Amino acid sequence: MPKSIAVIGGGAAGFFAALSAKSANPNCNVFILERSAKVLSKVKISGGGRCNVTNATFEIDALSKNYPRGERFLRKAFAQFNAQSTVDWFETRGIRLKTYPDNCIFPQSNTSQSIIDCFLFDATAKNIEVIYQFHVQAIRKDNEVFTITSITGNEMKADAVIVTVGGQPKRSGISWVENLGHTIIEPVPSLFTFNMPNETIRELMGNVVEKSTVKIEGTKLMGQGPLLVTHWGMSGPAILQLSAWGARVLEGLNYHFFVLVNWLNETSEESLRGVLAATMTQHGAKKMSNLNPFPVTNRLWEFLVQRAEINPENRWNELGKKSLNKLVNTLINDRYAVSGKTTFKEEFVTAGGVSLSEIEVKSMESKIIPGLYFAGEVMDIDGITGGFNFQAAWTTGFIAGKNAASS
Ligand SMILES: Cc1cc2nc3c(=O)[nH]c(=O)nc-3n(C[C@H](O)[C@H](O)[C@H](O)COP(=O)(O)OP(=O)(O)OC[C@H]3O[C@@H](n4cnc5c(N)ncnc54)[C@H](O)[C@@H]3O)c2cc1C
Repeated sequence: MPKSIAVIGGGAAGFFAALSAKSANPNCNVFILERSAKVLSKVKISGGGRCNVTNATFEIDALSKNYPRGERFLRKAFAQFNAQSTVDWFETRGIRLKTYPDNCIFPQSNTSQSIIDCFLFDATAKNIEVIYQFHVQAIRKDNEVFTITSITGNEMKADAVIVTVGGQPKRSGISWVENLGHTIIEPVPSLFTFNMPNETIRELMGNVVEKSTVKIEGTKLMGQGPLLVTHWGMSGPAILQLSAWGARVLEGLNYHFFVLVNWLNETSEESLRGVLAATMTQHGAKKMSNLNPFPVTNRLWEFLVQRAEINPENRWNELGKKSLNKLVNTLINDRYAVSGKTTFKEEFVTAGGVSLSEIEVKSMESKIIPGLYFAGEVMDIDGITGGFNFQAAWTTGFIAGKNAASS
């Protein structure tokens, strides 16, 4: 009898695992159990419908540093399948990819449908069956055979099982994995934007600062990169990074905290004072509203000047010591109250999931139940934005599929 492999979940990791299993051992019988009537739904909407498949970070150490949870685990896994492997995998299947200046890699077609078509075509060619509306609610293993039960009572049997059900907002979503003896790290959201209902900065919605540094007051958490002012608060890569690294801490604070913004990226107080002194000497007679020495929009500059309680119609040489100090503080250590979060519409993930300490990194096999494998966001792995979450799904899916088929 050929070996049968059940993949639970028809998402990114599930398809990659199923295809990897069939490539490793074409004689296996591989089938996907999907709870809904559609597969690859997140791939479809990912990256604003364009699917940011990976990131051009080809060095393993550097790649693994983009994962607030799972860095050490993935560093080992990337030795088997990394960003270069992803590029090769898709290009071998005729999907041309394009790298953008921020290192994000998208299909050249600019539509996620190319990725979906690629998976569906390959799955059909490899005879991988998808069983829809099979919502798994229990697994048991007796005499080396797994029995998988759906919420409607249907049963499927398999010699190996790969669990790829994605991030679950609630632990109860994977209580059936917990019932097998696995530890579930409490899920919390990651990749969200900050709500600032009481801050007037919201009036500047649409303003972008290309290079900023943001911190959470009272912690060591930091994010860097573009910052976008929105009508509800702040967003952009710097804020999303902060939300990912701080996912657990910020949940502990019930999403009420203070964010400190350096609008001039890493500029230190000393060098900022130097720039301000030079501006006062060289352009003393000019109005502050007419001379903005920094890489922020004029609108934001005027806002910051007023925030430092300075009239923007004042001339540079009218700036007294007290005002100068306030301006310095506003430019590099500007404090805003955050009350609540908004899920980032482009990309959000769940921190938490199946504990990595119970999964063999070389094979993605459970250390508790032989023959049971995991891949994708159901594991306690999540990355920042930029294609890193799919990369983790491809890597773990590839390893799980290969090992489930060959062991
Ligand atoms: C809007 C949005 C945009 C994103 N864009 C990007 C991007 O551009 N780049 C990037 O790297 N990441 C992106 N992400 C993150 C990325 O989509 C996920 O990290 C990735 O999809 C995880 O893959 P997965 O296969 O583990 O889980 P999923 O893709 O969530 O797939 C899980 C599958 O399992 C099924 N399932 C769940 N429970 C059961 C059950 N009990 N029984 C049977 N089936 C079940 C689900 O229906 C689903 O089909 C985005 C996320 C969102 C929400």
